[in-house]
Amino acid sequence: MKPGFWKSTLEMRCPRCNRGKLFYRPLLSFHFAEMEDRCRVCGQDFKIEDGFFLGATYVSYAITVAITVPLMLILYLGLGLDYLPVMGILVAVLIILLPWIVRISRAAWFNFFVHYDPEWERKRVEELLND
Ligand SMILES: [Zn+2]
Repeated sequence: MKPGFWKSTLEMRCPRCNRGKLFYRPLLSFHFAEMEDRCRVCGQDFKIEDGFFLGATYVSYAITVAITVPLMLILYLGLGLDYLPVMGILVAVLIILLPWIVRISRAAWFNFFVHYDPEWERKRVEELLND
């Protein structure tokens, strides 16, 4: 896959270099949302400003709706389940997917503002030489 929005978002990698991971903690841990301060590969700052990732809640909302509405239609109209079992299944699915939704939302949000830079290696060497 070519470097860009979708590759970086789906692989949850640094949008600038498409190599460094945004998250190093295991997905299934209490620290699933913790990010590095900088990219370990290209040095991209992951803490652009305080509250930057609050905007990821908009992406998270869209993903949650995109999962919930079709699943609800399948369970309620397709399988004919009652309201309570449908709600129980939806809540369970969303709780199970929560860590992944949080991470993919942050990755997408970050990709809206930071883009792949084909010159990142040369610029990183210059940054390191100037330090
Ligand atoms: Zn990077």
